[in-house]
Amino acid sequence: MIIDGHVHTPFCPHGTRDTLKQYIENAILQTYSSISFTEHAPLPPSFTDPVPTKDSGMKLQMMDDYISTLQQLKKNYEKDITIHIGLEVDYIEGYDEEIKKFLNAYGASLTDSILSVHFLPTPSDFVCLDFSPDSFRKLIDAHGGVDAVHRLYYQTLLRSIEADLGRYKPTRIGHMSLSHKFQNLFPTEESFTEETDAILESIKKRNYSLDMNSAGLRKPYCQSTYPPPSILEKAFRQGIPLVYGSDAHKSEDLGAGYSQLKQYVSNVY
Ligand SMILES: [Zn+2]
Ligand SMILES: [Zn+2]
Repeated sequence: MIIDGHVHTPFCPHGTRDTLKQYIENAILQTYSSISFTEHAPLPPSFTDPVPTKDSGMKLQMMDDYISTLQQLKKNYEKDITIHIGLEVDYIEGYDEEIKKFLNAYGASLTDSILSVHFLPTPSDFVCLDFSPDSFRKLIDAHGGVDAVHRLYYQTLLRSIEADLGRYKPTRIGHMSLSHKFQNLFPTEESFTEETDAILESIKKRNYSLDMNSAGLRKPYCQSTYPPPSILEKAFRQGIPLVYGSDAHKSEDLGAGYSQLKQYVSNVY
């Protein structure tokens, strides 16, 4: 039985139009016992999405429809599968108050969410680090090297874990090595063990869990899980709960990479 804690939906403006029914029925077919829909949350109102298509997050006006549609499906399918209603919430440095305000408004309807970092600052604006090799290149130029971008990513991730985002703050940390998405194009010199150890320590201290994300396996320049097996093994030994996440943006990606990750799966539901 597969538990998948990270799945996107047709409410995602950059995903596919695959219907929720397609996701759910494929999940049942693949012997899922539980699926958490974690759509990209609306970005803070005063934040400008740096992606040219401006489609990184759901529109705020869609939130009520998102929640009520999933509540209905959760009921319809309750005999076959557990459906969690959640979000993948962006941590953006400096926007803590707006993120908290949003979570205070919607958090009571959510049962399983993820906290992720996709946006990093430059001296002039923000960049979506995983959008394209070009966007990553922009960060390298702004921060003076590949390693500096990774260091900034890990610092921001640590800050997200420590941030006060209120009582509805998600407690699972999304794809903790996302800065390695283009690692075959932009190799690193350092291993960042100090940074990743500090992140694991902080997760452990707060009883948070880790998204064990298979999306990197499907990315041509990454070909690794987020985080890679060396970090998963450490987290596993430390007793940090690890939750498989397909990060599917189309229904056919459900279950992808599970065979490589199932050895670390923790029972957290
Ligand atoms: Zn997405
Ligand atoms: Zn993500």
